Amino acid sequence: MASATPVRTEVLVLGAGLAGLYAALAAARRGADVVLATKGSLQASNSYMAQGGVAAVVADGDSFAQHAADTIAAGRGLCDPAAVDVLVQGGPERIADLEGLGVTFDRDPAGAYRLGREGGHGRRRILHADGAATGAAIAGALIARVAANPRIHVLEHTAALALATDGDGCAGAWLLGHDELRLARARMTLLATGGACALFHRTTNPPGATGDGIALAYRAGATVRDMEFVQFHPTALAGGGRAFLISEAVRGEGAHLVDAAGCRFMADAHPDAELAPRDVVTRTIEALVADGGEAFLDLRHLDRDHVLDRFPNLAAGCRRAGLDLAADRIPVAPAAHYLMGGIATDLEGATSIAGLYAVGECAATGVHGANRLASNSLLECFVFSHRAIGHGLDAGGAVAEPGPPPVRPLARAPLPELRRHMWELAGPVRDEERLTSLLTWLGERPDSNPVLVARLIAAAARRRTESRGGHLRRDFPDTDRDQARSTTCPPLHSTV
Ligand SMILES: Cc1cc2nc3c(=O)[nH]c(=O)nc-3n(C[C@H](O)[C@H](O)[C@H](O)COP(=O)(O)OP(=O)(O)OC[C@H]3O[C@@H](n4cnc5c(N)ncnc54)[C@H](O)[C@@H]3O)c2cc1C
Repeated sequence: MASATPVRTEVLVLGAGLAGLYAALAAARRGADVVLATKGSLQASNSYMAQGGVAAVVADGDSFAQHAADTIAAGRGLCDPAAVDVLVQGGPERIADLEGLGVTFDRDPAGAYRLGREGGHGRRRILHADGAATGAAIAGALIARVAANPRIHVLEHTAALALATDGDGCAGAWLLGHDELRLARARMTLLATGGACALFHRTTNPPGATGDGIALAYRAGATVRDMEFVQFHPTALAGGGRAFLISEAVRGEGAHLVDAAGCRFMADAHPDAELAPRDVVTRTIEALVADGGEAFLDLRHLDRDHVLDRFPNLAAGCRRAGLDLAADRIPVAPAAHYLMGGIATDLEGATSIAGLYAVGECAATGVHGANRLASNSLLECFVFSHRAIGHGLDAGGAVAEPGPPPVRPLARAPLPELRRHMWELAGPVRDEERLTSLLTWLGERPDSNPVLVARLIAAAARRRTESRGGHLRRDFPDTDRDQARSTTCPPLHSTV
């Protein structure tokens, strides 16, 4: 591996999902020079795959208080109300800004937003673009803006290997790209490296979502929290590992969840039936499957033209699996989808390390608690990226030295094996015995970022001896009021 000339910039953005793209644009629009490095292409991200949309208060009769209340109810007692207020109140302004940047949200012929409804939302509140291809539509518009902005220097296929820190602050990161290791020095470093659900065998996430940024921050001494809270989406196509997601927007349009006998099992499980929050639907399906049953999405009672017009990409995905979204019962089962935990930040996206910010799915801002409300994550990307850039540029950045380069490349993680272990032992249903056996197995692997993040998840899951939100313990099935708090991971080199 050769060493390349160091790069210097004001803002270093790591990751090019919607959090990173929007942050890069926000910084450039404030006159800062930006380096935007991403380990794949600009299109390789969870963001690009987002389907249902962005939640925001834009409808007459909706209110910040209602959006906040739905978010907090979904979060099962662990949301930070101040962070939730920041999230929901920032929505309308960010939506207007996205439209100014060229994003077109779907509207009806009269020009009003066509708003969708998803689980846990008390009303229609979800903006979408291109039907259920919202992520690609927004990312496409932002990528065009990034490419046209001379202040933003994009480095694709360039991965952050380590943060450049002197123990006091962050001075940038060490980047590996095209066989060269280089230091990127920056006044402000922003991690936007996404979540870690590709560490599970059954997942809706693309393969790169392995929690790199969380590992980097944790190794540098940043506070990481709530890693046990993984959201298992209830309705990914059944069968196989990487699973095609059937957005819950289809349930918002009236799709039913039925068992093999055609019975709508959610009607007995929750007053909102199919529109119950995700953790409830996932648990109900898990229980059905444990009893030898199967779950299906059924859209056959809906108008076929409406279904195909509203969800063209979901219809195409089903077609690839030999299914007709409007005419067949679609077999579904849970899959790892979203990491609520991550790098702890304050309301400005600042981490516990000076000069280091974290936004998007790699961050734990406090808005999601133990169970994210649908379509709040894209909103979080925009609201908190905007705030982090404002705060970081106003603060003037860290005065830190980069420290030495990483001394050795980490081992390659045994990903297929690790994913199977994570799914079987720390998946939708957990218990002490399985988590202990997972931690033993992980402890026997050489150090790597995926192994480290998997250990953080497994150890946090073992510590939380209750069931709450996305975290379901078969040996502690109830929620324990005394555990209604966020927990931080012990520092590296202590026993996780
Ligand atoms: C199928 C699917 C559908 C979804 N639908 C919705 C939805 O409708 N609404 C909603 O709100 N949320 C949805 N989500 C969740 C949402 O997409 C994500 O939470 C959100 O996009 C995360 O954005 P991000 O920018 O934080 O991370 P990502 O979009 O995952 O981007 C992470 C970026 O970091 C880069 N990266 C990772 N490691 C490194 C490294 N070491 N060095 C450099 N770069 C690195 C990656 O290459 C990528 O560019 C969905 C998720 C999936 C998987």
